[in-house]
Amino acid sequence: MQQLEEDIKAAIRNIPDFPKPGINFKDVTPIFKDPALCSRILDGFSSHFENKGIDAILGIESRGFLFGLALATRMRLPFVLVRKVGKLPAKTVKLSYALEYGEATIEIHEDALEKGWNVLVHDDLLATGGTASAAAQLCEQVGAKVSGFSFLVDLSFLNGKAVLNKKFPDAEIVGLATY
Ligand code: AMP
Repeated sequence: MQQLEEDIKAAIRNIPDFPKPGINFKDVTPIFKDPALCSRILDGFSSHFENKGIDAILGIESRGFLFGLALATRMRLPFVLVRKVGKLPAKTVKLSYALEYGEATIEIHEDALEKGWNVLVHDDLLATGGTASAAAQLCEQVGAKVSGFSFLVDLSFLNGKAVLNKKFPDAEIVGLATY
């Protein structure tokens, strides 16, 4: 696992001051050019969550779709999407949450999850935890339960894990590469 973390970090490209001054953007796109690394990442996630009774994986737009669907396929689980408002075609449930500046609205198809399902929420990166927490709240609003969170990257100095732990104390939180 240690080696996997090192290899993920070696592949990630740091882009200073993107998309605005002061943000050190973690560009995960080079990872997708390395199929052997992608496969080990899927092994890493699935080893944490197999035999945990997960019923579905939820990916957060947009980079959460990439490993999200691949992991769901690997684990033979349904995959569902949380998208920015206005993109999902059928009837949805929406949630607005605060960003550093302003707010964002995300939504899920109201019939995407069965009542009582145990859901694993997936995104590429955990920063303050606001996005993952809003996606998890949407799961609960449509009657499902959040059993876990998985991220490629955890920016631990922003304390997102503590935010998720407080709101979803029963959920296991996994970040494969921690900064
Ligand atoms: P947060 O809601 O603060 O946890 O932010 C997480 C969301 O913002 C994820 O969907 C990330 O893809 C994106 N994000 C936040 N900070 C960064 C960063 N430094 N590099 C890349 N993506 C980021």
